[in-house]
Parts: sequence; C-alpha cells; structure tokens
Amino acid sequence: MLIVKDLHKSFDGADGPVAVLRGVDLRLEAGQTMALTGDSGSGKSTLLHLIGGLDHADSGTITLDGSDITALDDAGRAALRRDRIGVVFQQFNLIPSLDVAANIAFQARLAGKHDRDWTDRLATRLGLTDHLKKYPEQLSGGQQQRVAIGRTLAAKPSLVLADEPTGNLDEDSGARVLELMLALVEETGASLLTVTHSQSLAGHMQRQLHLRHGRIDG
Ligand code: ATP
Ligand code: MG
Repeated sequence: MLIVKDLHKSFDGADGPVAVLRGVDLRLEAGQTMALTGDSGSGKSTLLHLIGGLDHADSGTITLDGSDITALDDAGRAALRRDRIGVVFQQFNLIPSLDVAANIAFQARLAGKHDRDWTDRLATRLGLTDHLKKYPEQLSGGQQQRVAIGRTLAAKPSLVLADEPTGNLDEDSGARVLELMLALVEETGASLLTVTHSQSLAGHMQRQLHLRHGRIDG
C-alpha cells in the first residue's frame, strides 16, 4: 500500500521558489489502479518522480508497504526503484543497443528476479514474440511501449508508476497498450498510478484523482 502524506515540493523560479505540490495526500491500496489527471504544469510528473524516488520532497512522507521512502538515502532509493517500483515513461526509454528480449529482461536481471517463464509469458501477452530479436528503432511506438511495459512488469514490482504512457501513441494503439498494462498489472497484483490527459483512459482505472493548485482535488 502507498500512503502519501502532506507532501510539499517547490522549485526555484526566476522570482524565488515556486510551490508545485502544497500538501498532497493520497492512499493507494495494494492492487488498486488509479488515474492522476490535472492541467499541464500542475505537478503530476513531479509527484510521480517523488513517489518513484527520482527526486526529493521538501517535506511530507511517502510510505510504500510500510517503509518511508522519504527517509532513504540515494542508494536506498536506487534499490527501491530496482526492487519494488516500476516506472513507465511517455518516451519509452528503451535501451537502443539491446534487442527486445534483452530489454524486457533488463530490469528483472538487475533486480536478480529474472524468471524466464514469466518474461516469455509477458512477451506473448504483449504480442511481442515475433519481435524479440529486433532493436527498439525497428519497432513502432506502440510496440516500443509494450516492450517498456514488459520490462517493468518482468521485475514484478509492487507499484507501477506510469507518466502519460500513451501520450506518444495514437488513440487506438494507446487504448490497446493501456488495456494490456491494466490486465498485466492486475495479474501481478501490483498497484498502478498512471498520469493521463485522457478522461476516457482515466475511466478505465478504479479511482481517479485530480491535481489542482498543488493538492489532490477529488
Ligand atoms: P505536463 O502535463 O505538462 O506533463 P505536469 O503536471 O507533469 O505537466 P510538472 O512537470 O510536474 O507538471 O511540473 C510542475 C511545475 O514544476 C511546472 O511549473 C514546471 O515548470 C516546474 N518544474 C518541474 N520540474 C522542475 C525542475 N526540475 N526545476 C524547476 N522547475 C520544475
Ligand atoms: Mg508531466
């Protein structure tokens, strides 16, 4: 379970610090799916970065399965990202020098959790079995994002964070990618927190939160 309490984050602006998150509270139960919406610049990516241990909060706490992420040092946060949190980005972020099979297995190998049966099953479910020997540049955007989802889920994280995972895809491809991600997240029992601009995609999640003026609104 993920519990975020009174999270604050400011950035330095031209006229002094700009408060982006001003007391964010949220709670995501194990296995729950949640969509995060909000205007551009409202702080959605910032919030995901803090939860994913990619940046420091100014104050507040983030607790994942009982341990406080905000109290970890850099090595602790790196271990958390490797072992328990999976992140899917809008830009796919695949490793160009590795083929599809190696990209899918990459994070699981790093975490010492590589399970051949599971990665094979993921590749099948994601419709990638004919592409395993290809390199990222030889794939369409939708295929690349399916590889990125496979890579994330291969390591069996307890929390999946996705920042506009369908933002670079056309509507049909985006809907298919989201459907697959939801089904596979459900199968692993992970929780999912996904940022999306699309109300129709947000409607596929169990819960929807809106970020406004630095706080969760509804
Ligand atoms: P979008 O929907 O466009 O992706 P967002 O809701 O994800 O927007 P963020 O990227 O979280 O918004 O940015 C929130 C605010 O914080 C913006 O005003 C942005 O300029 C500012 N910001 C984000 N990261 C930094 C940074 N590293 N340094 C300075 N300002 C930043
Ligand atoms: Mg963003």
